[in-house]
Amino acid sequence: MEQQEKIHDLIGVGVGPFNLSLAALLDQIDEVEALFFEQQQTFDWHPGMLIEGTKMQVPFIADLVTMADPTNPYSFLNYISKNERMYQFYFLQRLDIPRREYNDYCQWVARQLESCRFGKRVTNLHHKKDSHDYFEVEVTDIDSGQVQWLRTKNLIMGTGSVPNLPSSFQDVSGEGVFHTADFLPNQERCRNAESITVVGSGQSAAETFRELLKEQRECGYRLDWITRSSGFESMEESKLSLEHFSPDYVNYFYQLPQEQKDQIFATQGLYYKGISNHTINDIYNLLYEYSVGREELNVGLRVLSEVKDIHRKTDGGYALECFHNEQKESFTHESDLVIAATGYKPNVPDFVHHLADFLQWDEQGRYKVTADYRLVKNEETSNEIYVHSGISHTHGVGSTNLGLSIHRNKVIINHLVGREVFPMNEKNIFQTFSV
Ligand SMILES: Cc1cc2nc3c(=O)[nH]c(=O)nc-3n(C[C@H](O)[C@H](O)[C@H](O)COP(=O)(O)OP(=O)(O)OC[C@H]3O[C@@H](n4cnc5c(N)ncnc54)[C@H](O)[C@@H]3O)c2cc1C
Repeated sequence: MEQQEKIHDLIGVGVGPFNLSLAALLDQIDEVEALFFEQQQTFDWHPGMLIEGTKMQVPFIADLVTMADPTNPYSFLNYISKNERMYQFYFLQRLDIPRREYNDYCQWVARQLESCRFGKRVTNLHHKKDSHDYFEVEVTDIDSGQVQWLRTKNLIMGTGSVPNLPSSFQDVSGEGVFHTADFLPNQERCRNAESITVVGSGQSAAETFRELLKEQRECGYRLDWITRSSGFESMEESKLSLEHFSPDYVNYFYQLPQEQKDQIFATQGLYYKGISNHTINDIYNLLYEYSVGREELNVGLRVLSEVKDIHRKTDGGYALECFHNEQKESFTHESDLVIAATGYKPNVPDFVHHLADFLQWDEQGRYKVTADYRLVKNEETSNEIYVHSGISHTHGVGSTNLGLSIHRNKVIINHLVGREVFPMNEKNIFQTFSV
């Protein structure tokens, strides 16, 4: 075990787009010396869902740096320029870049940043009060298992989210039941399956279903799509609705009482959970084409049907015990493979709960967060834990939206440095949310 005496200014936990953006912005600022640790061996953004043809749901302007500083060398346009693709990008005439290109861009940035260390998991954390106050951070090397203890004044949690599997899926998860996050590594198995069922009706469900539908006739499998929702609902994508993903709405939402925030957030699912219109159109167009000449479709789409339980059949495949939410009737659906498009949940590492006495928690056991993204502490200390993840209860619907990551990083950097490195605009949108 290695112990270091040096006290860093900032240690970042996780290198997803949010902390990568912070690392890229800090790289241009001398005042903060930071290190970021990522457990994966390289930057890789939701690799199981980098399906060809999928695109970003935010314009490329929401890259890692541009909205804070368009002259920053880690901008998307500089990536395009350095890769000698400027004319191709110009003629492409699109704001919504392919998801695979966003990943490649982030990898290009990550490779250049000295501060980002890969293959290292943050495994524990203590707050210490010696001659100085600091956090002691345990970092474990994934390959060697070697443990290092580092000291830092501040911490930033960018641990993102992890796939959410309902309990009924957990018992059978493995071979033939997997989450959309693992879709691409399982695509070949899908091609050889007799029947496949996608459960859920968000964007990942739709993208997976569309990909399977494209190959359905060639591969010959039966394809089903089941959701408990009343429809395959489209995401709210009008320009004025998108203004909910602005600093102005975050500021408005933040000051509401917690109970009201929970109520409002519960009604905002279609701002971020529905399906993009273009994906629904692609699916409908394919279904329409396939049905030309009154051809029998070996495809089923079912709404209002909740999967209550899944068990493995003795002769192979799975039986899904379903319940129709309006007709109040149970039925069984059988499938060779089952793909759970059941979303993601915030990833709050266990070691945060080791700081139970150091931090303040709300009645539902969630940490409390200040408006400028610091965990609320019980102790008087200048050491801060900034957070990107698990803040939808305090900062609302835009918490995981990439278009807001720069704003959040500007706020965090201004607080960290103690001066206005990045000016903040009061008014950014056309509508007003407060009185
Ligand atoms: C398929 C998909 C597509 C999406 N597309 C969009 C989009 O187009 N637009 C949009 O606005 N949002 C999108 N989102 C939502 C959101 O922007 C992403 O989930 C985004 O990845 C969040 O970034 P992050 O940095 O918070 O976390 P993540 O990308 O989840 O990264 C967190 C990282 O932390 C690491 N980590 C966790 N714990 C530790 C630890 N203890 N030590 C070291 N490392 C650790 C993880 O390995 C991971 O790499 C999408 C989400 C998904 C699932």
